[in-house]
Amino acid sequence: MAKPSRSPQPPSSSNFIRQIIEADLASGKHKRICTRFPPEPNGYLHFGHAKSICLNFGLAKDYGGRCNLRFDDTNPEKEEQEYVDSIIDAVKWLGFDFGGAALYASDYFDFMYRAAEYLVESGHAYVDSQSAEEMRASRGTFSEPGRDSPCRIRSPAENLRLLREMRDGKHADGAHVLRARIDMASPNINLRDPVIYRIKKATHHRTGDTWCLYPMYTYAHPIEDALEHVTHSVCTLEFEDQRPFYDWLLERLAEGGLLKRPLPQQIEFARLNLTYVVLSKRKLVQLVQEGHVEGWDDPRMPTLMGARRRGYTAEGLRRFAERIGVSKANQLIDLAVLEDCMREHLNEVAPRRMAVLDPVKLVIENYPDDREEQVDVPNHPQKPDWGRRQVPFARELWIEREDFMATPPKGYFRLFPGNRVRLRYAYVVECIGYDVATETVRCRLFEDSRSGTPGADQYKVKGNIHWVSVKHAGAAAVGLYDRLFKVPNPGGGERDFLLDLNPDSKKMITAKLEPALRNAQAGECVQFERHGYFVVDGPDSAPGALQFNRAVTLRDSWSR
Ligand code: ATP
Ligand code: MG
Repeated sequence: MAKPSRSPQPPSSSNFIRQIIEADLASGKHKRICTRFPPEPNGYLHFGHAKSICLNFGLAKDYGGRCNLRFDDTNPEKEEQEYVDSIIDAVKWLGFDFGGAALYASDYFDFMYRAAEYLVESGHAYVDSQSAEEMRASRGTFSEPGRDSPCRIRSPAENLRLLREMRDGKHADGAHVLRARIDMASPNINLRDPVIYRIKKATHHRTGDTWCLYPMYTYAHPIEDALEHVTHSVCTLEFEDQRPFYDWLLERLAEGGLLKRPLPQQIEFARLNLTYVVLSKRKLVQLVQEGHVEGWDDPRMPTLMGARRRGYTAEGLRRFAERIGVSKANQLIDLAVLEDCMREHLNEVAPRRMAVLDPVKLVIENYPDDREEQVDVPNHPQKPDWGRRQVPFARELWIEREDFMATPPKGYFRLFPGNRVRLRYAYVVECIGYDVATETVRCRLFEDSRSGTPGADQYKVKGNIHWVSVKHAGAAAVGLYDRLFKVPNPGGGERDFLLDLNPDSKKMITAKLEPALRNAQAGECVQFERHGYFVVDGPDSAPGALQFNRAVTLRDSWSR
């Protein structure tokens, strides 16, 4: 496996797709560009799709063109409305506009069929009645040419009659197919008379039972692009070998006057591969169906639904797409790049709050039980205009378990008997003992050390810990999410990818929260000071019973 890259690309202004577009605009080939994002509605979108969405919509935006969202619903059996809805939702969430309505390949079925009749009449297509087996056997291999089908010599008239019978439901599934007549000896197997239509007596989610003949994806896709006047049809590298057929088909239809020039140009780029993640639909389905995660929107899933629940932001994903750029060479990107983009953006948008995730009690023995005060805390250290808030301070506080040690190692600057720390935004305290049975740390406070008062900085302490007042604290469930897989290449080297699941990818805890968090709303992002960025969960939160999900820690704990 190639070494994952962390800062791979020059700014996208210089990528090869942009160069093609700029040349086409400069030469006058196109006045305005059109791209498209063409998902098959047979699954939920993931980080890889986000790259493609950002690329296609981003190009349209940058060059003043448009980008279509088009559902490639040519396969009647696999597609469902639920996927359509979820994909529309995800594209909008990512912040892109597809000009009002989504488009559907199935809206072009009439045209596609007419184009097929034209190909038959002009001798560019024929009905083949061989079995699937026979066709496979005569296709040849990489090193051997294929053999012509005995049906290849059928006359246009006979082909047309058969094609119409196929359309009219007179033949069973698999009895015949329509093939392009190109070249059975072509070194490119995709040009050895590819199948363009098959009989399938299936109900389609949009066209119902109108058709019992459905176009193959490779035939449908170029036509969809051309009918929408797509100028640059950007796709992943595995379609490179299909490009000659893409061009052949559009040329034939343009010759016949069915399509207008200029024709769309297919341009391939390398798909996104990410470490610590699987993006294959089959594997994602398996994770959900076998219960390794709690659904498609599980915050650990690399789906856009999951990312959203996790607290990843659309802006973070757009920055990520920008940062990794596009290239022709296969890309393996370190997941840390994505996490850094989230951290960076959340740092800008998340107000700071205090929450104690693993609480032990701190008692300030020289602070009266009935005393209480408000300390003044900034909502964001770099954004004074976000204001400040009052946080109640009292005799008993929750602090993090790891902020106290009875016998500290060298270099530990937080609480241990005899040591002083600052309680953030409040006072300096000195640890005077602890009680194991009640898990209580005992301290005394220095009255003249209150933050912001004259002389407070005469206390030189190295530790600065957060806290929450016990009697004012709220409680909430917190999901501490980590990477779903524990190795960079799950399932590498023929291994079952499930063996690489990270057993510690999810931990549910109950945290103590400062009062300002009590009214947090679903989807709201905050930084828990010293911990990371958290979002209020949608589905699992209720008023008065919040759940926070950890989007990302403050620092990358995976890099060594
Ligand atoms: P399938 O195997 O079912 O075709 P798919 O992941 O390719 O799965 P599509 O719905 O066909 O799903 O994908 C829509 C678009 O997203 C395509 O243009 C595809 O090239 C692009 N895409 C899918 N996966 C990635 C990826 N990992 N990186 C970049 N683009 C991707
Ligand atoms: Mg695909």
